[in-house]
Amino acid sequence: MQLESRLDSIIKKVRSYHPDPNITQLRDAYEYARRMHEGQSRKSGEPYMTHPLEVMDIIADLRLDVASLVAGLLHDTVEDTDTTVEEIRSRFGEDVAFLVDGVTKLSKFQFNTRQEAQAENIRKMIIAMSRDLRVILVKLSDRLHNMRTLKYMSSSGQERKSRETMDIYAPLAHRLGLYWVKTELEDLAFRYLHPESYYDIAEKVASKKRQRQSFIREVISILDDLLSENGIDAEVYGRPKNFWSIYRKMREQQIEFEQVFDVLAFRIIVDKRAQCYESLGMVHNLWKPIPGRFKDYIAISKPNGYQSLHTSVIGPYQERIEIQIRTQEMHKVAEEGIAAHWLYKEGKAVPDRDDEKFAWLHQLMEEHQDHEDPVEFLESVKIDLFHDEVYVFTPQGDVLSFPSGATPVDFAYAIHTEIGQRCSGAKVNGKMVPLKYQVQNGDIVEIITHKNQRPNKDWLSFVKTGRARTKIRKSVRREQRERSRELGRELLDKELKNHNTNIRAWERSGKLDEALEKSRYATSEEMLGDIGYGKTQAETIVEKIYGDEEGDDKQKPKAEKESRLGQLWNKIVDRGKTGVVVDGIEDVMVSYAKCCNPVPGDNIIGFVTRGRGLSIHTRDCKSVSHLERERQIAVSWANDTEVPDSARRPVSIRVYCTDKPGLLANISQSFSAAGVNISEAQCVTTDDRRAVNTFEVLVNNRDQLTRAMKNIEKIKGVYKVERTTT
Ligand code: MN
Repeated sequence: MQLESRLDSIIKKVRSYHPDPNITQLRDAYEYARRMHEGQSRKSGEPYMTHPLEVMDIIADLRLDVASLVAGLLHDTVEDTDTTVEEIRSRFGEDVAFLVDGVTKLSKFQFNTRQEAQAENIRKMIIAMSRDLRVILVKLSDRLHNMRTLKYMSSSGQERKSRETMDIYAPLAHRLGLYWVKTELEDLAFRYLHPESYYDIAEKVASKKRQRQSFIREVISILDDLLSENGIDAEVYGRPKNFWSIYRKMREQQIEFEQVFDVLAFRIIVDKRAQCYESLGMVHNLWKPIPGRFKDYIAISKPNGYQSLHTSVIGPYQERIEIQIRTQEMHKVAEEGIAAHWLYKEGKAVPDRDDEKFAWLHQLMEEHQDHEDPVEFLESVKIDLFHDEVYVFTPQGDVLSFPSGATPVDFAYAIHTEIGQRCSGAKVNGKMVPLKYQVQNGDIVEIITHKNQRPNKDWLSFVKTGRARTKIRKSVRREQRERSRELGRELLDKELKNHNTNIRAWERSGKLDEALEKSRYATSEEMLGDIGYGKTQAETIVEKIYGDEEGDDKQKPKAEKESRLGQLWNKIVDRGKTGVVVDGIEDVMVSYAKCCNPVPGDNIIGFVTRGRGLSIHTRDCKSVSHLERERQIAVSWANDTEVPDSARRPVSIRVYCTDKPGLLANISQSFSAAGVNISEAQCVTTDDRRAVNTFEVLVNNRDQLTRAMKNIEKIKGVYKVERTTT
């Protein structure tokens, strides 16, 4: 009976703000929940049903819609009774089922609130995950009632719930502009987290209660008179600040309770915005303002829409008091938070169009109306406040936020640079995923590392965070420098072999230092790197030391020297004219692989060879797959490179045709028409009067080659033209 009369009073409250509530559904939901929770009781000994009812009452205080009220009544049925979400859907509709499901899921989260910094992430994650803001409002109502009745819980449960409330739910209420929910949650949590301080403050506030109340009355009457004398119609209220904010002030300023003067806060509520500033002027004229305490949240409102003027003054008896000045409309927003932005018109809830501060809500509403039944209540609105971010867990339960589209590699670098560098694989929710997998809200990401793993240049194509990008670039560059030093060392050693010595001997004898000095290098790393990149030549370095001893060598004809170099480098084209770019550096010594004979325009890849510089292959060359991955270097053709004749690339072309006199002449004509020189030709005829001609030609680039091949294909009698590889 008691429960029924409680329900009636709540329904009365709903009618006070809702023009046309579905009372039948509210009563049905109540009956259903009561039946489901039959026989269950709360820790206090009361019937369990008191809890859903009180949650519903708080939801009514938040002035929410019927679906939210119903969800409040049913919020524990899926978790604690035999009911399923499907059952609720069939009885109360999709909307209620969605809310109950959302609240049930949120309740299952075990928040790890060790770190303060985590709270913001978790808050955002809750919003991102629940999408529909009403899920959070119902959950907040549930939490508020649980906190109000926390005394029946075990002390460890009290501690945990209070910590979670302080870290997550109170800030969440604050973010939504629900000040009364926020302050009540704070004071309730404070009581269990710091009981001694709480009761100390509570006692001190109470002991001066009478004195305080007469003081409050005095200030109110002074302000009333002041404002009405000046023709401003205003309501004035006064109250002690909440205990938690007094405590926080004591702690932050390291002061005693007695020194916290402005424990009293007054509120002046006027009609018009201009009157706020007028009233402020009058107050400051009457009482001395405390410098640095004035805040204009009207001109610049808080992100959650809160508007007010705040000031602290030295009031009667030199007592410091805080005064907030706002309009009725601003007050409504401050008290009701997000709910103040819904107008109940003709049975619909629509956002208040006159309120510019909530333009984002209007926009959301409008977007949604395009594809939803506009007759629906605010339940149709999905709040996607943080759609650009995703929140994922470490296996330890910490939450990290990332830009949407982020990958396990971003995650790995966010954990630790070393983890990123050694990241070889990833598991998401226990399953292996590719490294370019895009993490989703709530994913648990685990990184697999391998000591031989190195950052891969390909990662740059999918990572989303600046941190990962920078680290990968840096590492790839460093590795290429290392490789070029390694290559430089090999080249110098090879050159020294001609003088029957080697680098170790040079190091021991001090000749290396001498060479460094003579060629103006500060370190051997720098010099070897330059040799590797082809910026300087090993021979030049060696000459600095042996040049004088081997006077003869200097006199040798240039051609001979070049041929020796040629031997060493095989088919290396002159530096700076190679047309190949390695990581933005053009002066690279390269040789072109014989197996695939790449020409400018081909998709290519470089390999650091032992002693032959960088060997360039086409990416689809068969030998590539056999080569060591660590020696791969991404290379590309330099743009707009004028290819000198000396840098023309030899390519082998095979032409299948009929064995017909004159055809060979036509083919060679086609080559020269495309500007391609033939350096060698071979002709084989087959028994069936066919011919296979193989041409060694020199081309500038792929385009030229393609042009020549197309021309040849058009010749009558030609079956097939192909570029050969070995
Ligand atoms: Mn509950």
